[in-house]
Amino acid sequence: DLTMPRPRQRRIFSVANQKGGVGKTTTTVNIAVALALAGLHVLVIDLDPQGNASTALGVERTVGTPSIYEVLLGEFSAAEAIQTCPDAPRLGCIPATIDLAGAEIELVTMEDRETRLKRAIDGVDAEYDYVFIDCPPSLGLLTVNAMVATREVLIPIQCEYYALEGLGQLLRNIDLVQQHLNTELSVSTILLTMYDGRTRLADQVAQEVRSHFQQKVLTTVIPRSVKVSEAPGFSQSVMTYDPGSRGAKSYLDAAREIADRGARGVQ
Ligand code: ADP
Ligand code: MG
Repeated sequence: DLTMPRPRQRRIFSVANQKGGVGKTTTTVNIAVALALAGLHVLVIDLDPQGNASTALGVERTVGTPSIYEVLLGEFSAAEAIQTCPDAPRLGCIPATIDLAGAEIELVTMEDRETRLKRAIDGVDAEYDYVFIDCPPSLGLLTVNAMVATREVLIPIQCEYYALEGLGQLLRNIDLVQQHLNTELSVSTILLTMYDGRTRLADQVAQEVRSHFQQKVLTTVIPRSVKVSEAPGFSQSVMTYDPGSRGAKSYLDAAREIADRGARGVQ
């Protein structure tokens, strides 16, 4: 059975970790495509000026395309900036263009600088079951906007030596946002990524993460896989680039875990 259950209520995630290269974008894209192929309505918001999620999802992101930058500025509504992804008809994406690179600074002097994204996506079509915001690798105003706009944080953690370093800072920032800007925010989901089963280190990191975060950590672990890293070069997720690959299967399993939790109302 390829379908997955709808969540009790719409779930909105910030996919965050201020470290770059840990699998935020890959996780956002592949979980989103897996859920959409399973019949759910999903929206990806690309909040990283590098626009890697937009590229992987095959949407237009040349300068002048209505993007999350114009949405933050109030020049377009979120609905106007949504493009449908070729990978899955039920998957929408608000792309990021290079203009977003300036937003981190421009936002500083703007009114409601922390709540602009929330306002923009409050108006988004209620038919979306899942919204994922792919955050940049920093804890600046863009990431704060994501955390104000969402209830859940999904943290991808790469199974390597320095994985837990810097996580403290991320968790403190989440606490700060929770205390001052969004009482509903919490870390709901942790996904271990780029797991290399041949190393004992990967196992140790995985164990450490599980003992600290307990049931927040998905049972599924994403293996390191060449197919996963090749897919974006073809403007595809691994789910469509090579559905039979281990990477695709593990992202499908992770998506199913997320969907099952959502259907049970577990956060
Ligand atoms: P982030 O968004 O956190 O910066 P990315 O998702 O862009 O991280 O991943 C960083 C790099 O690692 C990318 O080149 C991506 O293709 C690659 N990558 C991510 N996950 C895997 C995986 N499971 N196996 C192999 N390569 C991966
Ligand atoms: Mg990224």
